[in-house]
Amino acid sequence: MQYISTRGQAPALSFGEAMMTGLARDGGLYVPQTIPTFTPDEIAALAGLPYEEIAFRVMSPFMGDTFAEAEFRGLIARAYAGFGHAARAPLKQLGPNHFLLELFHGPTLAFKDFAMQLIGQMMQAALARTGERITIVGATSGDTGSAAIEAFKGLANVDVFILFPHGRVSEVQRRQMTTPAEGNVHALAMDGDFDDCQARVKDMFNDFAFRDGVRLAGVNSINWARVLAQVVYYFAGAVSLGAPHRKVSFTVPTGNFGDIFAGYIARKMGLPIDRLVIATNQNDILDRALRSGDYMTDGVKPSISPSMDIQVSSNFERALFDAYGRDGAAVAALMSELKSGGFHISQGALEALRAQFDSGRCSEEETRATIRTIAAATGEVLCPHSAVGVKVAEEHLGAAPMITLATAHPAKFPDAVEQATGHRPALPARMADLFARPERVTRVPNDLAAIQALIRARI
Ligand SMILES: *Cc1c(COP(=O)(O)O)cnc(C)c1O
Repeated sequence: MQYISTRGQAPALSFGEAMMTGLARDGGLYVPQTIPTFTPDEIAALAGLPYEEIAFRVMSPFMGDTFAEAEFRGLIARAYAGFGHAARAPLKQLGPNHFLLELFHGPTLAFKDFAMQLIGQMMQAALARTGERITIVGATSGDTGSAAIEAFKGLANVDVFILFPHGRVSEVQRRQMTTPAEGNVHALAMDGDFDDCQARVKDMFNDFAFRDGVRLAGVNSINWARVLAQVVYYFAGAVSLGAPHRKVSFTVPTGNFGDIFAGYIARKMGLPIDRLVIATNQNDILDRALRSGDYMTDGVKPSISPSMDIQVSSNFERALFDAYGRDGAAVAALMSELKSGGFHISQGALEALRAQFDSGRCSEEETRATIRTIAAATGEVLCPHSAVGVKVAEEHLGAAPMITLATAHPAKFPDAVEQATGHRPALPARMADLFARPERVTRVPNDLAAIQALIRARI
């Protein structure tokens, strides 16, 4: 299995190489050259299996000979052992034909743990073979950073630097990044928004002297391994509602398009997904782009679902690559137009995207109202991101059962939840002392050279 860049100008890599590389050297994102498919019988055989076994079967065809079978099983087992629920991704019922896939039982209470815990294990295993040391740099709107820090803290051959937008993450998110005491963890509060943080990380990857000098590795959802780990829960959720014998729909609260792109891959692998619905908050560039054909950025508006406060949606590039018939030059041209504000999607590509994705948006007031009404009707307390998903899902209910992805635990966003319901959600017991731990954070300007100097000095 080979991986190719969405911009067509970088060398094809193996799974292991693509995982350690992150962003392709032509600025593109790695995607599998071909997508392995499962027969209906193979999908039916997943029903009732432990999450770890489903993960092994779904991911193995993408990985070539990166890991021996027994080794890979061990990595998966360790990745999910720290989750607070035996099912890993339990399914709850919200209404007659509407279900919630709870993806927030990992160590940092957001779905990012599914991929990050596994990447932590896989990178550690790959580095142990070569004795190499790497520098991980990531940008976060709050949850990727804490998940990465949790997965890499204390590892001998890794330094992890996380850029988060100063003042724009929730207090729980910030404390999860700033309280780990391990010396290889570096939380950097940057002046700017998430798009600025992500842009500086991409700049570091495009500065080859720096990239090679510090042996840069990336764990944002530009990293294919993250997308792949997320494909698993689409299979797990769908088979528990009767796939492949009946179709299932998914609604996904998304910002960077990583999570929903994993659903698109699951569908390409043969999982019978009826509708795949993009749910955005007031930063609704994806919804607008699908409706109008114009992908135009107009500045991030901070919301109560901050992990989706994004206008430059990295993984959308992977969907565009397929929609443009895998024409890397066409994608590279769009991405250079994006630097000056946006681009127009061709009619053919737009039709291809609309054939795969539905979309909707949810305002701030609708988000609060959804948290309130779902709590009253079902007892389920949603985080604001999951509420965005539920509201948009309710507008897309049909004959197939709908599964909305619940992307974070409500206690990660206690202010928004308390405002909506009048009750402050409690953190799970295992992190009850989060507010008592000392914080360690470095404030940095939105300045590439300054951030690079800091990283060089720290490693
Ligand atoms: C990251 C995140 C999202 C958005 O996921 P994408 O991969 O950017 O689509 C949604 N909800 C929560 C809680 C998140 O942490």
